[in-house]
Amino acid sequence: LYDDFYVKSLIQTVEDWPKEGISFRDITPIFSDPKGMRMVVDAYVHRYIATDITHIACIDARGFLIAAVLAYELQKPLILIRKKGKLPGKTISQSYDLEYGSAELEIQQGAVKEGDHVLLFDDLIATGGTLFAAIELLTGQGAEIKEVSAIIDLPDLGGSQKLQENNVPVFSLCAFA
Ligand code: IMP
Repeated sequence: LYDDFYVKSLIQTVEDWPKEGISFRDITPIFSDPKGMRMVVDAYVHRYIATDITHIACIDARGFLIAAVLAYELQKPLILIRKKGKLPGKTISQSYDLEYGSAELEIQQGAVKEGDHVLLFDDLIATGGTLFAAIELLTGQGAEIKEVSAIIDLPDLGGSQKLQENNVPVFSLCAFA
């Protein structure tokens, strides 16, 4: 069973990293804790097993780790949205602003299509800029976003609220305010 206290106790806060004034939530201890990893994956399996999701899309790089296990469990295709320059062949890219700096995400052309019902997964929602860019890449090819899902939401940074205001269903396992 999902234990919010247990999962939160694994997440470490690193002050002033990667920049002064940022409280970075480090989720790597979840990956190195088999009980925590299972708890998190099981929570998502339970949430999405009886839905009409056809694809799981995930964001480079920590988003890959949970989403890959989830795709395996749910036996759904896994779609990678990567940082610029990592994907071969024809790609579509989208630039976006980060909590600190700016970046560009890419998807392979034809990775999704009209009629696909996508669960979009990342590790953490801050300003939402990363997820909005990923949504653009998926909906730009005709796919429908059924839900955006993350381990952690930082509601004070406004991303989850902005997504909801844009009629994107949002789910997070836990929040740090
Ligand atoms: P956003 O675009 O501002 O919502 O930032 C979310 C993206 O930045 C995600 O892909 C996260 O991996 C990363 N990120 C931002 N802040 C943190 C943090 O405190 N811990 C871990 N990742 C973060």
